[in-house]
Amino acid sequence: MEQQDFSKEANSLNSQLAELDLSERLQLVSRLGHAVFTTSLGVEDQVITAAIGEGQFAIEIATLETGRLFPETLNLIKETEEALNVRIRRYTPRQDAIDAYAAKYGLNGFYDSIEARHACCHVRKLEPLAEALSGAQIWITGLRRGQSGNRAATPFAEYDGERNLLKINPLADWSLDQINVFVEAHRVPVNPLHARGYPSIGCEPCTRAIKPGEPERAGRWWWENDEKRECGLHVPEAAASSITAAPHQ
Ligand code: SF4
Repeated sequence: MEQQDFSKEANSLNSQLAELDLSERLQLVSRLGHAVFTTSLGVEDQVITAAIGEGQFAIEIATLETGRLFPETLNLIKETEEALNVRIRRYTPRQDAIDAYAAKYGLNGFYDSIEARHACCHVRKLEPLAEALSGAQIWITGLRRGQSGNRAATPFAEYDGERNLLKINPLADWSLDQINVFVEAHRVPVNPLHARGYPSIGCEPCTRAIKPGEPERAGRWWWENDEKRECGLHVPEAAASSITAAPHQ
């Protein structure tokens, strides 16, 4: 399918999507072109997966199986496919890239420096993401404004100039309470780690439970002690590096 330039469409689509419910949002974007939804199996992503399954929309569901996920997350992939009547494609890192990373930084070198952490996320997440989005025109994510300070302005539709994609965030305006109500009403399987204090779940060595009152993403790369830390999936890599390279408190 021919790659389109969506840079001018994001604004008008943003207004349209604001008026629709979740199912209508997904239906609309599924008709715009080849759409890929990337799921980390977190609770927001499970809501989108359930809505795709219910509507059987023409949206590919993909997950980045980094090789460092929690066993609970891996189990949930299969459970989700069966419970929600969907197929989830797994995208894995290249073994030679992991070997090169381990030779240079050590397998768990991400604790030692920002550079090593970003290099690991590049190999295990960004390269598989590029593969998952190859040929796609629409990228659907589970980003919500309430997840963290630097997601507070998340639009429903934005142009990802780095990837020349229309990025759609159909849950941008949802609260965590709305998410939980949907999960209950639609009997959506969720990661058991959420109930153990993990509102945001990524790779096992880089995620820990949070304390009551902490921001939802406080348990991600907690040692970096920086509110704006991200893995580079949702910010350009250069920006992610400059954000996290700021002096730590
Ligand atoms: Fe590596 Fe941690 Fe990034 Fe996962 S979250 S890719 S283990 S640095």
